[in-house]
Amino acid sequence: MAAVKTDHAVFISVGSNLGDKLDNCLRGIAALTESDESSILGASRFFRTSPVDYADQDWFVNAAVKIRTTMAPLLLLDKLVSIQQQMGRKADAVRFGPRVLDLDILLYDDWIIRTPRLTIPHPRMHKRAFVLQPICDINPSIIHPVLGQTVADLLSHLDDEDQRVIPLENQP
Ligand code: ADP
Ligand code: MG
Repeated sequence: MAAVKTDHAVFISVGSNLGDKLDNCLRGIAALTESDESSILGASRFFRTSPVDYADQDWFVNAAVKIRTTMAPLLLLDKLVSIQQQMGRKADAVRFGPRVLDLDILLYDDWIIRTPRLTIPHPRMHKRAFVLQPICDINPSIIHPVLGQTVADLLSHLDDEDQRVIPLENQP
């Protein structure tokens, strides 16, 4: 008898700053639900955001989606890496540098995971307006399982005037 697979709620951030950024994000989101293992439960608006870790590059388009998935965390990470590669992202590109598509796991239920390949909650999410604002679009009261604060509180306490997060005028 096949084992029953449990559903998990996962927030994923989606970003691009090369080529047709919005289209890259939309294609990345569509690829997440190619199999029955995952489906979309919610999506943020799309934002134009200023680069954070490596400033000398073009602006990004960013969003977040909430999915339901039966995939275990490391299998989901493998899936994200393979979608990024299909979309032409070079494995040897500059860390934090320009990318066709970046897909990160932000939250996986309320799990805390620390392995060499995967850290959940995403280790920089609480400092990034371009991540917190999209999650707030979907659910502002979700609690960061390590910090014990809502994403809305984390966003309102971010003290970084340099981080610009502006909704796209033409939402798809
Ligand atoms: P960035 O931190 O800017 O997203 P990359 O997308 O190049 O950088 O990811 C670098 C590595 O981060 C990946 O190879 C992956 O193994 C690791 N990683 C650790 N935690 C996570 C997470 N929560 N989501 C996605 N990747 C993660
Ligand atoms: Mg990434």
